[in-house]
Amino acid sequence: MSITKNIAILEGDGIGPEVMEEAIRVMNAIEKKFGHRFMCTSAWVGGAGIDNAGKALPEETLKICEQSDAILFGSVGGPKWEPLPPNEQPERGALLPLRKHFGLFANLRPARIFKGLSHASPLKCRIAKAGFDFLVIRELTGGIYFGEKGSDENSAWDIMKYTVPEIERIARVAFESAKKRKGKVTSVDKANVLQTSILWRKTVERIHAQEFPEITLEHLYIDNASMQILTRPADFDVIVTENMFGDILSDESAQISGSIGMLASASLSESGFGMYEPSGGSAPDIAGKGIANPIAQILSLAMMLKYSFGLLEEHEAINDAIQQVLDEGYRTGDIFSGSEEEKRIGTKEMGMRITKKIV
Ligand code: NAD
Repeated sequence: MSITKNIAILEGDGIGPEVMEEAIRVMNAIEKKFGHRFMCTSAWVGGAGIDNAGKALPEETLKICEQSDAILFGSVGGPKWEPLPPNEQPERGALLPLRKHFGLFANLRPARIFKGLSHASPLKCRIAKAGFDFLVIRELTGGIYFGEKGSDENSAWDIMKYTVPEIERIARVAFESAKKRKGKVTSVDKANVLQTSILWRKTVERIHAQEFPEITLEHLYIDNASMQILTRPADFDVIVTENMFGDILSDESAQISGSIGMLASASLSESGFGMYEPSGGSAPDIAGKGIANPIAQILSLAMMLKYSFGLLEEHEAINDAIQQVLDEGYRTGDIFSGSEEEKRIGTKEMGMRITKKIV
């Protein structure tokens, strides 16, 4: 069935516009092939928002996002805006308000190694070659980052607090995701030390027993989980954890996947509204050179089709197209190993080759 959706396109700064152009090329191919209609509206955000409309998240941009079914986000930031006060800088001034405004409490970051890219992973060859494909789900709007903070002359404190409903809703996202994958959830906490983790574990177990008994559930302490991810990544399917542990685990998982240029993420609200963006930043060191890897942005588009619009076949079509281009040996600089079978290409050519596989 063909669908019509409104999409806010916030390309941002640095490599954002370059990689977004390729994601839109792929989106157009998906529209044509599957008969959908994606009505895209572009808006300023980040440094571009500051320069063109006076702030990182201009009102007009927020309005466009409110009128859309999903947000496809590029990346924001760069040295030009670093002298600004922290709250006015591109990342803090745009990303945090967007997450807050839309209640984006669930952050999903897939970690996987595409076939042929195991050389880019810092893992032992044997482990990287065996491959892995798991999803880290991080609670994004609660916990220690948002608890009461304070300091006096001799001390400082950050309160970590979770409510039952906050844990219930992220647990449901994890179990629902596992249903569409390999059917396993690993819940990560520190229930041997933290009260919030005891509540976390109890609540996850209850939601599992009451609503998702068919899913396999295991628990790991955060210190153990961070080791196990390095030694047996292939055993994981969905990892769910609270905000701070998730912050660390998702970056660790990104590292072992190889290049940040291959990694997408989704941030979802309770109603299923989502913002989709590459895991990396605006890469000012390579911006404007036409060499950035557009695959993270294209995979962000693929996640949008899957999680916001339920278009599973289209999601697979994009993933297959990327794998085919990689199988033919085409690589941007960040995933180029120098081997003779590989051909080094730029941002545009990578986008065009992936698009051609879809048409
Ligand atoms: P970064 O992710 O931008 O860059 C880290 C390294 O990865 C750089 O060497 C860069 O060239 C490389 N890289 C990143 N994406 C790539 C791609 N698609 N293809 C090839 N190489 C790629 O992180 P950083 O240097 O710490 O931050 C740069 C700016 O981005 C800062 O202003 C930071 O605040 C901002 N930032 C924004 C976001 C966001 O918009 N969500 C996230 C992180 C950082």
